[in-house]
Amino acid sequence: MTGSLLIHAVIPRSRANGPGERMTVWVQGCSLACAGCFNPDTHPDGGRGDRRTVDELLAAAEAEQDRIEGVTLTGGEPLQQPGAVAAFAAGLKRRTGLGLIILTGYSRPEIESDPARLSAVADADLVVAGRYQRRAHLGGGLRGSSNKAYWWRTGRYRHIDLESVPDLEVLVGADGTLTITGMAAPGIGAA
Ligand code: SF4
Repeated sequence: MTGSLLIHAVIPRSRANGPGERMTVWVQGCSLACAGCFNPDTHPDGGRGDRRTVDELLAAAEAEQDRIEGVTLTGGEPLQQPGAVAAFAAGLKRRTGLGLIILTGYSRPEIESDPARLSAVADADLVVAGRYQRRAHLGGGLRGSSNKAYWWRTGRYRHIDLESVPDLEVLVGADGTLTITGMAAPGIGAA
């Protein structure tokens, strides 16, 4: 497996980023500039973030696979690193039984008209697609705003699976560090 992803943060197990407990990966870098984005720290793609190989991320997911339902890729903008996302998604499906959700600022037509973006979502079970719009803010579910669309690509997830996803989650690290995530959270809750 080749390739690497520029990463903002990884949480091995989160409940606020999709059904069940999920390894959640925030990629670093987004040029879409949605007004009101509540995750601006993820926008720069130069001199920020950690570069992780696809193999490292797959090994991390495999290490958690007995404790998690799946993986969520968010950001930042996952589809601005489409080759590595495609490689990660294909490896995840080949090596584990985990589900995959991708949160992206690109709309479904923008994805379907671009071969690299379409390849990146080929192995996703659910894509949440579209720009964040502040005037349509939701702060719940997996859509930051009501214009964003759920693109159900397999039968693995349904609307009902999202009803129990909390809007906010506070995680306490081994060193006492607090991480707040979820659609109602400032910081690493956005995509
Ligand atoms: S909401 Fe998502 S797509 Fe929009 S600027 Fe923020 S990180 Fe980028």
